[in-house]
Amino acid sequence: MSKENFTKGKFAKEKTVRKTSAQTESASKESVNSASSQAIKRFFLVGYPIAHSLSPSIYNAFFKEHKISAEYALYEIKEPEFEQKVRALLSAEGICGFNVTQPYKKRIIEFLDGLSGDVVFLQSVNCVSRENGKFIGYNTDRAGFEKTLGAFKARIFGKDALVLGAGGVAPAVVKGLLNAGVKRVFVYNRTFQRAVRLAELFKNEENGSVQPVLQEALFETAKSSAIIVNATTVGLKGEKSIIPEQSIFSGQILYDLIYNPEETDFLRIGKSRGATVVNGLPMLKAQAEENLKIWGLKGEEDD
Ligand code: NAP
Repeated sequence: MSKENFTKGKFAKEKTVRKTSAQTESASKESVNSASSQAIKRFFLVGYPIAHSLSPSIYNAFFKEHKISAEYALYEIKEPEFEQKVRALLSAEGICGFNVTQPYKKRIIEFLDGLSGDVVFLQSVNCVSRENGKFIGYNTDRAGFEKTLGAFKARIFGKDALVLGAGGVAPAVVKGLLNAGVKRVFVYNRTFQRAVRLAELFKNEENGSVQPVLQEALFETAKSSAIIVNATTVGLKGEKSIIPEQSIFSGQILYDLIYNPEETDFLRIGKSRGATVVNGLPMLKAQAEENLKIWGLKGEEDD
């Protein structure tokens, strides 16, 4: 884990947090400084949309079970108010850490005091921990995703994979697939240039190659992929799958990072074609365990 790296100063980034006007700060602080006592450790999920998130129930159940005086709440931020609300959050009483989800995993970086080694490479933060008064960014998506691939390693080793999406979580997914032995990762994204930039990030990767895919080649690429991962937000609101039924076969693994709804159209199609389907809940739980370790609330020996 990279906490040690950071404390040695290897990956430390210059402090970038600046105070906004006192007026703005006190106005926005009110929303995060609720009536709860300072002794309570406070954690949040930052993102938009997040109303569907199961994170508060997962963490609050853990706190209750282990008699930890802590609470985890949603902190929804719409794009125009991002800076103001993040600054309020960083100065809130009792805050010990927070998670970051769509669409802010990259944008949060400039507000943090330091980054772990994984983040320096992946440019994506999904977990922030307050350590000696400083906010340090980590990426636990990669470890969480990789852990859930364990059961499928033999089926994907040396094979091709298709990743749909090139947003905040996508670099962690690509890295996880390569670490699991996938030979070629193809990335399709609605905005093609983002897929190109993601592939560029992995240009020195020795374990396998990462290539962007154009719309014209998408369905053929899907057919020849051992695993297809939906790392887009398509399906959160019941949207149709990006990949049509005809490109899916039994023997393939369809992995949707979305867990609510439990079964997206993408997974429904996969099931009807006899593919193995996995939703995002195991990954959410696996990365939650990593986050709890970073926050010092769970030991390695608790695994
Ligand atoms: P993000 O940074 O907001 O990226 C969104 C991605 O979805 C982009 O690639 C975007 O393409 C694509 N997209 C959005 N609307 C689309 C549409 N109508 N058609 C095609 N593509 C569309 O989000 P993120 O942080 O990467 O998260 C992506 C998903 O993974 C979310 O659903 C999130 O909840 C889920 N997730 C789950 C876990 C877990 O533990 N289970 C962990 C992390 C993330 P453009 O670039 O073209 O906009």
